[in-house]
Formats: sequence, C-alpha cells, structure tokens
Amino acid sequence: MGILYIIATPIGNLEDLSFRALRVLKEVDLIVCEDTRQTIKLLNHYNIQKPLVSYFQHSKLSKIEYIGEQLAQGKNIALVTDAGTPGISDPGGMLVNKLTGEQVNKEEFKIVPIPGPNAAIAALSISGLPADKFIFMGFPPHKKGRNKFFDEVLAAKYTVVFYESTHRILKTLGQLNKVAPQKNIVVCRELTKQFESIYRGSAQEIIKILESDKNNLKGEFVIVIGK
Ligand code: SAM
Repeated sequence: MGILYIIATPIGNLEDLSFRALRVLKEVDLIVCEDTRQTIKLLNHYNIQKPLVSYFQHSKLSKIEYIGEQLAQGKNIALVTDAGTPGISDPGGMLVNKLTGEQVNKEEFKIVPIPGPNAAIAALSISGLPADKFIFMGFPPHKKGRNKFFDEVLAAKYTVVFYESTHRILKTLGQLNKVAPQKNIVVCRELTKQFESIYRGSAQEIIKILESDKNNLKGEFVIVIGK
C-alpha cells in the first residue's frame, strides 16, 4: 500500500521546510506539485532529484487515475503546492478530495499529513489580535459574492483572516474602509521573505502607508481583522 504525504512547504524562506518534510521528499518515489517551476526551486535548494508531476485544479481525471494507480502499486508520493500547506486556498485540496472520492479505491493507500508553514497562521501569530478562535475566509471573491464577503467580515464575532494579491490589495482595503473604518487591521506582506512588512492600523491608515511607496504594494498579502 502506497502512502500519499501531504507536505507543507515554505511560504518564502526556504529554511522553513521541516526536517521531516525534507526526509520524506528525499524518500518518496514521485512528487506531485502545482507548478513544477516553483517546486524545482525548493528541490534544487535541498539537492533533491525526483520525478515531478504537475497537478492543476483542472487536471484531467486521467492524472488522478495515474496517481491512484501509482499508490495502488505501492509507490509513495509527496503532494506539495507552490507554497504553504496544500489545500489551504490552493489546488492541493482538490486532489486530495478526488483521491478520497469515488473514482479511487481508498483501501489501496494511506494519506499522511506533514504539517508546516501556512501564511494565515503565520500572520495570526504576529497579529496581536485574539486567535483562540478565528475565521479564515480564503480570498475575497472578485465580483459575485464580494459584498456578502465583506458583510460577513463586518459581522464576524472573531478575528478574521484572509488572503489578498498585489493586484487587489488597495481595492480590498478601500472596501474595508467603507464597511469597517473603525476596525483594527494587520496587513502582512511577504512573510518570511526579504521585504517582509507588517502594517497595523485602520484601513485608511494602512492605505496611506501602502500608497506612500509603490514597493509597499508588491508581493503577497494576508489581512487580519479584529472583531
Ligand atoms: N497554501 C498556502 C498557505 O498555506 O498559506 C496559500 C496559497 S494561496 C494560493 C496564496 C496566497 O497566500 C497569496 O496570495 C497570499 O495571500 C498568501 N501568501 C502566501 N505566501 C505568503 C507570504 N509569504 N506572505 C504573505 N502572504 C502569503
């Protein structure tokens, strides 16, 4: 019976790979990843050479069947995504969902998590906002459901965490400024990377800081909002 390891990988700083993740990546027969170009950077850093199969959200069923067959033949497989914990707002979850679904014989393999980095949890850990209970909301929808998303943020009884990209960070903070101008916000940019920055304040205050230097708008963002 093969083992499918779901491995969390760094969200920026390559030193954040756990010892266990490193050992398992060295031992598996095959690595299934989101984008081979991204995963190769990690593998090269640790001098790992393994067959890579890329998995995208819209991959054909035949790829799922192939992975299922490999597991049934007793092969051990690692699943990684571009960054962080597979399945948390990335296509990793879809693969696990399909592999635990109808098409595949679940008796033929075991799934083992190898925990590690996650951008939302890293942001919460330095936010200073209560994190005993929190709500993770993924990415705000671009169009349909966007207003509802922000209504939910406003109504939340706990700290809210969500992801945003460089393209929409100002738009999203602008919308937060409209619906929740008084809320305490922490915006985390480029966590664990060279230009890691943490901005704290109201939406309006953070917009001002981001607009003061166009470099502040570059990279990846996590937004944490107090209740
Ligand atoms: N699976 C990942 C995880 O465990 O965090 C999240 C994948 S999701 C496709 C990518 C989003 O996560 C980015 O758009 C950004 O909002 C957030 N993110 C990932 N790495 C980050 C980093 N180093 N700093 C800030 N946000 C990050």
